[in-house]
Amino acid sequence: MKVLVLNCGSSSAKYKLYDMTDETVLAEGRVERIGLDDALITHDARGKERYHTTTPVRSHQVAIARAMELLTDSKYGVLKSVQEIDAVGHRIVSGGAYFTEPVLVDQRNKELIAECSELAPLHNPGAVVGIEAAQELLPDASQVAVFDTAFLATMEPHVYLYALPYELYEKYKIRRYGAHGTSHKYVALRAAQLLNRPLEELKVITCHLGNGASITAIKDGRCVDTSMGMTPLEGLIMGTRCGSIDPSIPLYIMEREGLTTQQCNDLMNKQSGLKGMSGVSHDMRDIEAAMEEGNERAIQAFKAYVHSIVKHIGAYTAVLGGLDCLVFTAGVGENSPLLRSHVCSQLAGLGIYISEERNHDKEKEKEISTAESSVSVWVIPTNEELMIARETAELSTRAIRQRN
Ligand code: ADP
Repeated sequence: MKVLVLNCGSSSAKYKLYDMTDETVLAEGRVERIGLDDALITHDARGKERYHTTTPVRSHQVAIARAMELLTDSKYGVLKSVQEIDAVGHRIVSGGAYFTEPVLVDQRNKELIAECSELAPLHNPGAVVGIEAAQELLPDASQVAVFDTAFLATMEPHVYLYALPYELYEKYKIRRYGAHGTSHKYVALRAAQLLNRPLEELKVITCHLGNGASITAIKDGRCVDTSMGMTPLEGLIMGTRCGSIDPSIPLYIMEREGLTTQQCNDLMNKQSGLKGMSGVSHDMRDIEAAMEEGNERAIQAFKAYVHSIVKHIGAYTAVLGGLDCLVFTAGVGENSPLLRSHVCSQLAGLGIYISEERNHDKEKEKEISTAESSVSVWVIPTNEELMIARETAELSTRAIRQRN
């Protein structure tokens, strides 16, 4: 079965074509700056020359049509016809409270995805356009929507509700939804596989530390808590986001600085976090370099970042009633031994010990805990696209079987 994974953002469309018989990537590409005259198209197919160009791309529709041409191109492509694509898996950032698992796209689901745009204004509208373009260009393929929030939708009401007047939840559905669910699910399942135990039997904490960052607590194979909230702003300190702060602070800043809600939103989402604290950069590599040079603000930002992770791991260990496995993933989690070392050295009270030799090992996927550690600690590269491809293949196979 061949599955195309489509990830449409506000001005970009990324795609990855999988052969699910052995989960190999046949081709991948992206169109960026959609809507502009100098959109960028890059495309890589197995065994073929790389293609890239700058050209006007007016819409997502045009971008996806271009991707189909490249996939079937005699020089750059890997398919004879787009009809070889059996299913398309659409990455949907927010499924709100509506979707707890992947679904086949129909008119009703499409409307609900559009309705969730308020929770993911930069992503869901693009995804809906992407779905419509794929339906038109690949009418015979199953169209599956896979939600970033679905794995997190198992949280119980006392976990996802905020202590605000209940009417606000009823009126606006204000609650915790979280994000990065597909990544957390992928690495949790992979950890269970590597430990050779069913995920249902493990207490797991997964740390997705990229530009955006979130932590989840997983028990009985289900997510029981996650650090991001109604929006991705809550929880950990991130590259440019402040994470959890006293909720009175934005009101105070708006009053003192005369900021509009949009300006305050920008301040907390784009000017804060590592970038705002250090004044250096949002990028952990730059923070680490500045620390080496003795930059005090970079040192404080790093310490605060570590502290916010340690606090969440401690809290989630209590929520889970113990911990079997701790996983680091995403840009920082996968690539910064320094960060992992600082976090884990503060977790000795939980029986967590890592080997610095293993921590610095060049291997990408590795167990870094020592034999005496009571918690197995892993670094696992995330693979959200593969997770989407697997769920898409599974659902469309089930649907085909039911039809026959
Ligand atoms: P996104 O959330 O945008 O998907 P990623 O998961 O790709 O982000 O993470 C990007 C971040 O990973 C960068 O901003 C950088 O801080 C961090 N990163 C990447 N490589 C390294 C490295 N070698 N050392 C430390 N941090 C790194």
